[in-house]
Amino acid sequence: MTGITLRLDVERWREHLRVVAGATPGLVAVAKGNGYGFGLRRLAEESERLGVDTLAVGAVPEVEQVREAFSGDIVVLTPFDRADERARLLVGDPRVITTVSRIEDLEYVAGLAAGPRVVVEVLTSMRRHGILPDQLARVSPLLARVDFCGWTIHLPLRTEGRYAEAERLARTALDVAPGPLWLSHLPAEEAEALSRQLAGAGADPVPLRLRVGTRLWLDHSGARQTTATVLDVHPVRRGERTGYRQRVSPMDGWVAVVAGGTSHGIGLEAPTAATTLRSRAISLATGSLEAAGLALSPYSIGGRARWFVEPPHMQCSLVFLPRRVTPPQVGDEVPVRLRLTTATVDQVVDV
Ligand SMILES: *Cc1c(COP(=O)(O)O)cnc(C)c1O
Repeated sequence: MTGITLRLDVERWREHLRVVAGATPGLVAVAKGNGYGFGLRRLAEESERLGVDTLAVGAVPEVEQVREAFSGDIVVLTPFDRADERARLLVGDPRVITTVSRIEDLEYVAGLAAGPRVVVEVLTSMRRHGILPDQLARVSPLLARVDFCGWTIHLPLRTEGRYAEAERLARTALDVAPGPLWLSHLPAEEAEALSRQLAGAGADPVPLRLRVGTRLWLDHSGARQTTATVLDVHPVRRGERTGYRQRVSPMDGWVAVVAGGTSHGIGLEAPTAATTLRSRAISLATGSLEAAGLALSPYSIGGRARWFVEPPHMQCSLVFLPRRVTPPQVGDEVPVRLRLTTATVDQVVDV
């Protein structure tokens, strides 16, 4: 094994997936972008195994990466764009649900295929995509020409005012046409309360489709471990230069060359450095590595996070170890902290 490895305690992870799925009415598993570090194909396989009926992908090119491993419906979260030829071709695909966020596009999509499956997006306070609530009435006559799968409402993460906004927008939309509500970032209990409240006493609750990505795939951090292989180790003396940037080493020690660089997403997180003036003053006074202009790396060696010698390279990083630390051996694996929504690992290993 070399490079960056994500080890997955697959039984614990799947148990967590089942718990989230069981607690989420109308779960729509979200698999987009880098596949939350696991890859889109892997998430498609897990969704299939979990038995969810609908998978959401972020963008049109992602559909083909999941459609073989996953047998249910695939909803594309990025709204339809008529300039995108592949998006036009997917309209009318019986397994694909197209998100439409503009009235002109709804009309256009209705003309592309017979009864294409669509969800219509309502603009929220995020102001990302969607039709303005006061324009929704114009959607009504167009719905006869499509297979209307519901309204989609993508709420901001902030909890304050979220329920009220969801209620206001959903009510406006449901007054135009009844249909399932596709929601993000609203906890299941709130969504269920909303669906009962909108339906009114005695009526069946409004059907819910709750989209979940991060909380489904990444919440169980105990079920995974990320490591980097040590590629080389070199002694360095105080005052000697190292790295691309030929920085002067502030003390005797070792340069450990470890797998993982910008192409893996290493260093994309703001490096944890002392930010207050007081902590800067303290580190200057103690002559720490931070005062020497180094940044803390996500790699741990000998039980502690270590400092970067310089910014990560494309596929490896140089980290500094003081001389008193026993250096790792080439081929050892050391823990690396990765934010999996921005990381690309070399392999996922089930344990
Ligand atoms: C990405 C996305 C989600 C999933 O977000 P998480 O925070 O990862 O759960 C849900 N809905 C929409 C519209 C998205 O684009």
